[in-house]
Amino acid sequence: MESRSKSASPGRESTPVKSPAPTLSLVETLCALCGASEFADEAFGADFEYATAANRFRFVRCVVCGHLYLNPRPSSDDLGVIYPANYYAYEDEGAGLVARMRRRWEGAKVRLYEKWIGSGPRRILDIGCGNGRFLALMRDFGPPEWALVGIDFDADAARQCAEKGFETHVGRIEDLDPGGEALDAVIMLQLIEHVDDPAVICRRVFDLLRPGGCFIIETPNLAGVDYRLFRHSWWGHYHFPRHWNLFSTASLQRLLESNGFEIVRSEYLISTSAWTISLHNYFLERGYPDWFSRFFHFKNPLLLAIFVVFDSLRSAMGYETSNQRVVARKPGGVDPSGANP
Ligand SMILES: [Zn+2]
Repeated sequence: MESRSKSASPGRESTPVKSPAPTLSLVETLCALCGASEFADEAFGADFEYATAANRFRFVRCVVCGHLYLNPRPSSDDLGVIYPANYYAYEDEGAGLVARMRRRWEGAKVRLYEKWIGSGPRRILDIGCGNGRFLALMRDFGPPEWALVGIDFDADAARQCAEKGFETHVGRIEDLDPGGEALDAVIMLQLIEHVDDPAVICRRVFDLLRPGGCFIIETPNLAGVDYRLFRHSWWGHYHFPRHWNLFSTASLQRLLESNGFEIVRSEYLISTSAWTISLHNYFLERGYPDWFSRFFHFKNPLLLAIFVVFDSLRSAMGYETSNQRVVARKPGGVDPSGANP
């Protein structure tokens, strides 16, 4: 419900003849947070959701700082393979009950963001904007003075975003030329876990923001009942092989603070997709019939309702869930809450 990392169930597209998935050559990597090369095995799994590669993948834990990362990982030359054309982030929502519920829920999220971003004229960048779905929500539910900008490395998704009327850039944030105007806010929803060097992204965002500007990140959290149950292989947020770095609330705050930001707020979010995808992965690998594992689709309204209630109760009672939001601020300047527009 909250997440861009949820994805279509395998086999949902009608592909009559499917060639076997390739075995990718993988690249060894270092810990992106501390640079250490020593690690311990943490979890093994396959591309349960899209079957884009025949490899068995591995998450490892850095023995120096405890950070969790995919190692080895696909090379950047294979991004077109591991992000297939039917990848959920490139799809529009549809008009069913779940889409309507989700829209209402995300409208409330935009109004919450307004508290941190402010309601006057603000220039706001969505990194990994996909087809502009969340920018459109910000346009519909946010103040009319907001100037909304998107960037995505997928040219086709970026074209769809531009067609919705947004200033859209194609490429990586590292290469973005913002045209001399500092940004008031940057949002990055369910994306930092996909990038190879999160620290580079943080430094780039820091440079692009005006003093006092805010940076909102939502990303999986290494906690919660679903994580503890499925952490050895099937956890939905492993999203093999597309999630490369996974954070706890503490490690995400450390990443931001070590790159100059102040933490304004850190909180747990409901994580329905992690539940449904974890169950899907479990039943799929245990050899249950395809129709049965596909029942555990993240758009199944019954399961969504169950897990929304479960995660909401748990987070209300102060327990951690497997999804998190952190709001950080570049020091200096005016207060980003809009008190001094
Ligand atoms: Zn480390």
